[in-house]
Amino acid sequence: MNTFEPTLQAANARLAAVQPAAYARTRNALDGAVTRLSPYLTHGLLSLREVFDAVNARHPLDAQHKFVFELGWRAYYRHVWAHLGDGIHQSIHTGLLPDDAYQPHMPADVLEARTGIPAIDTAVRELYETGYVHNHARMWLASYLVHLRKVHWHAGAQWMLGHLLDGDVASNNLSWQWVAGTSSTKPYLFNADNVAKYAPVPWHSPGTLIDTSYEEMDRIARSAAPIQQRKVSALEGIQQPALHASPPDTAWSVPDGSLALGRDVWLVHPWSLGSAPQAFAERGVVIGVCIAESHAQMPWSVQRWHFVTQGMQQRTPHLWRGSALQITESLATARSVSWRSDPHLAITLQGAQVQLETPLFKAVETYCPSFAQWWRRTQISG
Ligand SMILES: Cc1cc2nc3c(=O)[nH]c(=O)nc-3n(C[C@H](O)[C@H](O)[C@H](O)COP(=O)(O)OP(=O)(O)OC[C@H]3O[C@@H](n4cnc5c(N)ncnc54)[C@H](O)[C@@H]3O)c2cc1C
Repeated sequence: MNTFEPTLQAANARLAAVQPAAYARTRNALDGAVTRLSPYLTHGLLSLREVFDAVNARHPLDAQHKFVFELGWRAYYRHVWAHLGDGIHQSIHTGLLPDDAYQPHMPADVLEARTGIPAIDTAVRELYETGYVHNHARMWLASYLVHLRKVHWHAGAQWMLGHLLDGDVASNNLSWQWVAGTSSTKPYLFNADNVAKYAPVPWHSPGTLIDTSYEEMDRIARSAAPIQQRKVSALEGIQQPALHASPPDTAWSVPDGSLALGRDVWLVHPWSLGSAPQAFAERGVVIGVCIAESHAQMPWSVQRWHFVTQGMQQRTPHLWRGSALQITESLATARSVSWRSDPHLAITLQGAQVQLETPLFKAVETYCPSFAQWWRRTQISG
């Protein structure tokens, strides 16, 4: 199942299919029992708490279970974002080379999936076609770009963010930094043997630039010179799908204050596509918003916009797109406004009531620069 329907039924079907024991054994393999829950988590159709509770009810989970640990990474990256804010767009510390040793643009052959390295080109194709790439393949892609092609991790992260259905600024930037070695103690390196061990045959890359030893990979990673591409003439590339800073769908309209007048409003937004609390669905009005400022630096593929638009249409026919000012002014006459906020939103609504998700992990107040430190301090909340 490599397509994603933006509905609660589809999210719950994936949840019901989670096999934590198989997950722990096989999650590193591209055909392993990973859950593909990430688009539903990123867009608020499911919370970490709901995922844990549903899986735990069928397969009781020890707090140290690999599956819980991986959910922990998502929560940990949110912890880092909450503490460092926009600082996560910069290297947390210097990596193998200074920041200016890496170029700020993506190479055309990678964008067009014609590097000649099957592991890389297949990952790029999957990214464009499905909006989902297995974690291990994301690591290969990021490692190849940063350490072999000398692309700055942030350029790679920005590119990937727009094409992923689960693109999340914290998980994405901080995973790229982890691979680059700017948040961790060592960079992530891989080679063709690693691909052969974990991926199906079409990904195998013998005889290519990555078919070398870890010692050689380490030497290349520490050198400022990008690896020399071999001439690959016969390859036909694909075009990178366009990215859009606002929804291309016609379902959206300009904010209309008369809709909110005197009513209790529940706002859904791209990071909160879940159901409105019952009271709003019955007596209030549910409005979907797309706030221009939140997307200006974060354009998305048509595929991702469709996911979000269709997900919102499951909740409401009223979809507004506009600036933060237009939207706040149009809500000014509402009796009340409530929502689940999210750090991706470039807006705080004065007077809006924020309904918090029930967290899965206890909040850790002091900043933890490593996952291990955070993991020791947090625990599953009751
Ligand atoms: C370069 C790179 C970029 C990434 N960008 C994103 C991103 O934009 N959004 C995103 O959600 N994840 C990102 N990840 C983390 C991870 O790859 C995805 O969360 C995971 O592949 C999603 O697939 P899944 O739901 O099948 O994961 P599963 O393995 O089934 O895991 C279940 C859930 O646990 C969480 N999780 C698992 N592994 C990680 C991890 N390493 N880091 C953070 N959370 C994790 C996710 O919420 C995931 O949905 C990135 C990883 C790398 C290496």
